[in-house]
Amino acid sequence: MANRGRLFVISGPAGAGKTEIVKKLIASHPDVRLSVSCTTRAPRPGEVDGVNYHFVSEARFKQLVDEGAFYEWAHVHQNHYGTLKSTVQKELAEGHDLILEIDVQGCLQAMAQDPTVTGIFVSPPSRENLEARLRNRGTETEESIRVRLNNVASEVATAYKYHYVIIHQDWSVVPNALEIAADEVYAIIVARRLEIDNRRDFLDHLSQSLKA
Ligand code: 5GP
Repeated sequence: MANRGRLFVISGPAGAGKTEIVKKLIASHPDVRLSVSCTTRAPRPGEVDGVNYHFVSEARFKQLVDEGAFYEWAHVHQNHYGTLKSTVQKELAEGHDLILEIDVQGCLQAMAQDPTVTGIFVSPPSRENLEARLRNRGTETEESIRVRLNNVASEVATAYKYHYVIIHQDWSVVPNALEIAADEVYAIIVARRLEIDNRRDFLDHLSQSLKA
């Protein structure tokens, strides 16, 4: 029987680049799976139901909550988002390592309910970097930049609860920052695979065969 897979939750402030990092990682490592969440928000142009998200109505989402179908769920930016227990159970049972790219509340829930979950926090390299990115969008007022930076401050305060912190460097300073960050996430996944708990069966078998 295949070893059970492991669960990794990744979060961090908007603008820190967690989606790009996860996309890069999945593209080069098909042995790692990305969970498809349910959401009540409308699809954006180009998004496909069942690929980017399972797009569901508020009524259906509530029904799923009442049925206890979610591994974790949260209310983010006026919409609901949740990870189905069935997705997690299926992927782990099949031996796949699974990434949930979810908001901070969802990560904290997952880590609190299961000590085997690995939490990875993706951080911007500095306040200046984040502020510059927000300003470069050209859509934010001074007030909204201040509010967003304050929100990031409270998200960064939760980073101490995670197991790992990836600092996603500024690509204008470190041109391959994205590759480095994706490699770092993969290094965490590989290190967890090599832990003694995953090697006991192998070691037992080897010990037995040496005694024979
Ligand atoms: P977006 O609407 O831009 O795709 O996602 C908004 C936020 O919701 C992001 O921070 C994303 O990580 C988070 N999110 C996506 N899926 C889930 C989920 O299943 N659970 C939780 N808690 N957050 C999610």
